[in-house]
Amino acid sequence: MNLIFLGAPGSGKGTQAQMLQSHLGLYSISTGDVLRKEVANQSEIGKVAKSFMDSGKLVPDEVVIDIIKNTITQKNCTQGFILDGFPRTINQAIELDKMLSIFAKKIDKVFNFEVGDDVLIKRISGRFSCKKCGSVYNRYFKPEKKDGLCDACGASEFESRVDDNEETVKNRLQVYYQSSFPLIEFYKKKNLLVSIDALKIAPLIFEHLLSSIDS
Ligand SMILES: [Zn+2]
Repeated sequence: MNLIFLGAPGSGKGTQAQMLQSHLGLYSISTGDVLRKEVANQSEIGKVAKSFMDSGKLVPDEVVIDIIKNTITQKNCTQGFILDGFPRTINQAIELDKMLSIFAKKIDKVFNFEVGDDVLIKRISGRFSCKKCGSVYNRYFKPEKKDGLCDACGASEFESRVDDNEETVKNRLQVYYQSSFPLIEFYKKKNLLVSIDALKIAPLIFEHLLSSIDS
């Protein structure tokens, strides 16, 4: 079973991918995480990617496709895989199908995680974490219990990701929608698309995923 998870940043698809990975043994490939690792390691591919990510733009196709191909061929994907954050364009989708056919694989289902913009912006731009222990909070949905102090360790210093400010998030969402609309049509025509109401709580979304996979 090979799946694609579509959804804007902050739609919660990463959490669901992790849950499916432990439940069904599907290997979850988050292109965002893999890219961030390359950036942190300051690899050649990472340096190229960084200049795009910093300004809230998408990383070029050939860079992402190379990374996916490496992961699919090098990691153990016998039960299948979940692509989270890829493809983002029709061109990538076509290149993906070509690459998979070389390995006699195909995509079985595409889940589209749907959430309203206002919620997404708050989910992402509200995120911050404790500098000391890494506990994650959200200024709108999950603030610290005592003002300015980490619930877990009591530290008073927090940090947020540079690319998580509201303007960059809005920019990222706009770029995302422009490229994802044709992609959604592409998978609809192939009869692979399943819409997921991603405003629901995580266990309910997970149930919906499992029943769709079984059917
Ligand atoms: Zn802490």
